[in-house]
Amino acid sequence: MQSPQPVWRVALPVPLARLFDYRPPAGHAASVADIGRRVRVPFGSRELVGLVVEVLVGVLAEGVGDGAADSDAPATLKPASALLDPTPLLHGELLDSLRWLARYSHAPLGEVLATALPTLLRHGEPLADTHAWAWQLSEAGRTARERLRPGKPRRLAELLHAGPRDEPALDDALDDWRGGARALAKRGLAERVAVPASRVAPSPQPGPPPNDEQRAAIDAVLAARGRFAAFLLDGVTGSGKTEVYLHAIADCLARGKQALVLVPEIGLTPQTLARFRARLGVPVHALHSGLGDGERARTWAACARGEARVVVGTRSAVFLPLPDAGLIVIDEEHDGSFKQLDGLRYHARDFALVRAKALRVPIILGSATPSLESLKNAQAERYGHLRLRARAGVAVPPTVRVVDVRKRPLEAGLSPELLAAIGAALDAGGQVLVFKNRRGYAPVLLCHDCGWSAQCNRCSTPTQGTPMTVHAGGRRLQCHHCGARRPAPNACPDCGGLALQSQGAGTERIEEALNARFPEVPVLRIDRGTTQRRDALEGMLATFGRDPGILVGTQMLAKGHDLPNLTLVAVVGIDEGLFSADFRAPEKLAQLLVQVAGRAGRADKPGQVLLQTHHPQHPLLMTLLAGGYGAFAQAELVQREEAGFPPFAHLALMRAEAKHADVANAFLQAARAALQAAGGELELNGPLPAPMPRRAGYQRLQLLLSSPDRRALHAALDAALPVIYALPEARKVRWSLDVDPTDL
Ligand code: ADP
Ligand code: ZN
Ligand code: ZN
Repeated sequence: MQSPQPVWRVALPVPLARLFDYRPPAGHAASVADIGRRVRVPFGSRELVGLVVEVLVGVLAEGVGDGAADSDAPATLKPASALLDPTPLLHGELLDSLRWLARYSHAPLGEVLATALPTLLRHGEPLADTHAWAWQLSEAGRTARERLRPGKPRRLAELLHAGPRDEPALDDALDDWRGGARALAKRGLAERVAVPASRVAPSPQPGPPPNDEQRAAIDAVLAARGRFAAFLLDGVTGSGKTEVYLHAIADCLARGKQALVLVPEIGLTPQTLARFRARLGVPVHALHSGLGDGERARTWAACARGEARVVVGTRSAVFLPLPDAGLIVIDEEHDGSFKQLDGLRYHARDFALVRAKALRVPIILGSATPSLESLKNAQAERYGHLRLRARAGVAVPPTVRVVDVRKRPLEAGLSPELLAAIGAALDAGGQVLVFKNRRGYAPVLLCHDCGWSAQCNRCSTPTQGTPMTVHAGGRRLQCHHCGARRPAPNACPDCGGLALQSQGAGTERIEEALNARFPEVPVLRIDRGTTQRRDALEGMLATFGRDPGILVGTQMLAKGHDLPNLTLVAVVGIDEGLFSADFRAPEKLAQLLVQVAGRAGRADKPGQVLLQTHHPQHPLLMTLLAGGYGAFAQAELVQREEAGFPPFAHLALMRAEAKHADVANAFLQAARAALQAAGGELELNGPLPAPMPRRAGYQRLQLLLSSPDRRALHAALDAALPVIYALPEARKVRWSLDVDPTDL
């Protein structure tokens, strides 16, 4: 009798909610030790890289099941083409946590794995080499050194005579040393040798002694060493949260453990990295979207090998392997950039909490403006609530004043009071930040003769078209929803009149007005238009220096680079945020206002904040001004509970888009029926048009699922999704599921 053949059950990066079975290549003795190794397999007419997640031996399934159906008969299965990893690439805690994420987000495991892995690993490249390189003289080089003619090779040989040098150290010591190195190597006088990356380490610099509140926070985190505990570190900007992180990380390093720090997309500045590097005295790895594939793959490998001890990264760093984990830190935990809004819609903060629990390590969630979710968890004592009430050092909190602009003449949206305050701050030798969360020249181009306005012909809102934003001082139109661009017309396309006017003001127009008004100081605009590249912002701010000047910008300026000479923050154009339909809009606006205000007066100069509005009596502003973010958050939590919104209810959003609205509607109706049939305590809302019902020519609808009980929500999805995937309507639309959506 023939013995049963083993089967690999493989997760592949395809949008199908199932695993795929393959025979191991001939001659390979399959076992559970294959779980977590990458394989190359035939799939249709192509080959794909996937991960073995189960091994079936005979009728016995080993490994953790994912609820897939019984395997096809092994004899009819295609063989895999190749086994790519000598040992499992994903294993232990990380593989388990990713399986959890697939279940929680109801996404195919293969897509979750593909999101978690850096591009090169996803494409089947081997685990990257993580050695640093150094140069040393050979035996022959040591004796020949003195006979070399003067020049680059000789100078390099002199340097190396003192001992081997790492390549980064050579970069600092000798211009264009590589030519010299090549010359020496050719004659056998010097050689390149691999050294462990972690050897390259400066000695740590001490920080300021912690104050009492910082000490208490540090002690609380250290007391949780070696077990899971979550802490909300709640302290205003400049209160010394980063110092708390640094002490906790230093302790983690002293115990030989790894620390992971997640920061918002715009928070990972060279300044931040330099501070971590200087203070910790170990190499600090950075991971962000500006890195090349090779660098990302090397950081991943360095983490997997336990060589990287500290990583500071943006959202996707939450997927790094941490075999010696000791601590996770989420800075600015309320920040929207931790949620991925397309593809696999995960929340890095929430997934980091899951990993901290699985890794049995403490996790610190730091913020000056904590999310309502985290505040609720702290109040329920699921998180320790650590408070830093005062600004550290000598800085004093800024004064905040509301400027009522009703009936006041405005210049590019700026009131006379605001312009006067800017002038006074400049005269006193300070710097000014004018914050406006709208880039471009003007939000609307309008014909004064007939009322025509420039609209995007591919997008629309529920009630009307979407205006195109005026850019380049009026020469270009751009849609901020789909990216469409076209030149601005010279005459009105409807009436032929020449009375086209830019209505309202974006950052470009404010910059223009301030340049005209304050010609003696530099005016620097910071938004996505001027700073496409990550390091551009840093360079621009460096040239700005400390002399009087004005920064104009969007929320890119809400944090990041330290501006010690900033004495006035002027906030304009917040009124539309006061009346948004999104139930999270007040929370987002309050966070933004507090964060921007926190930029004023960081060092020894007192700061001032001016809020310009047409609604000085608005409850959000009144609460925020009278009681600060804490009072606002309490009031907002009460409202959320009354309205049955998160964090008191759990949401999932199913989106669908198609060229015709009825196609998307038919799919969501069928999905709704499947969810209703699943039963449970579930409220279904929709299908309804999305907030932006037409984008880039597609009609978009959505179905909102809500339940006070998280388990009921997931049970309904578990029961209904197989049916929904199989719907004939599903093939005619682009659809997605977003668990815990943040943009409704
Ligand atoms: P946060 O992360 O809350 O914005 P930081 O940790 O960056 O605050 O601290 C703000 C500033 O105050 C930094 O310049 C820091 O060096 C300084 N600082 C922090 N803690 C202390 C302290 N205990 N004594 C003196 N200065 C401090
Ligand atoms: Zn007209
Ligand atoms: Zn558009």
